[in-house]
Amino acid sequence: MSTFYDDVILKDPRSASPTRIADVALLEPKTRQLVQQIIAAAQAMGVSLMVYETYRSQARQQELFDNGATKLRSVGVHNYGLACDIVRAIRGEPSWKGDFSFLGQLAHSSGLIWGGDWGDPTIQHSFLDAVHVQRCTVARQPALFAGTWYPDDAYNPYTDDSHLLFAAAASPKPSRSKPARTAVASHPRKKS
Ligand SMILES: [Zn+2]
Repeated sequence: MSTFYDDVILKDPRSASPTRIADVALLEPKTRQLVQQIIAAAQAMGVSLMVYETYRSQARQQELFDNGATKLRSVGVHNYGLACDIVRAIRGEPSWKGDFSFLGQLAHSSGLIWGGDWGDPTIQHSFLDAVHVQRCTVARQPALFAGTWYPDDAYNPYTDDSHLLFAAAASPKPSRSKPARTAVASHPRKKS
């Protein structure tokens, strides 16, 4: 199966870029469409947003890890064109100030997982990233990173069976190993 990751990202000269990339061309097309819808919807609500980071290389991930800006040493969902950091635009400058719960609502209604609750607000998450959205569940991440899974156009993380398994895994039963929800892609804040 050919994927956007194989066909576009890996062939792009920026795939090894050590610097931040905000180009939506490196977002998987459905992710890109949903991100653009969210930004338009926020604009209609009177909130100006901007894309802060789309694709992220392993080189940049390692640098952010070394700087303590992420808990994930190896590539995250950003590396696959399936995650985007969306911040406020204040006079053209990125801003992380204020409440981003509206972004969570827009993400949810668009079919993107929000880093403010990782798709499950009933769980106490140890790590939150209020400007991050992604088009896969946390439970799918190991398969994504292993190269055995990539979402198709029809994929919606909120109807993903493995999302339900993830929620079930959060129950006190000790039989399942701990999901990797604490080791998710982080947002670099103002490190770049
Ligand atoms: Zn992010």
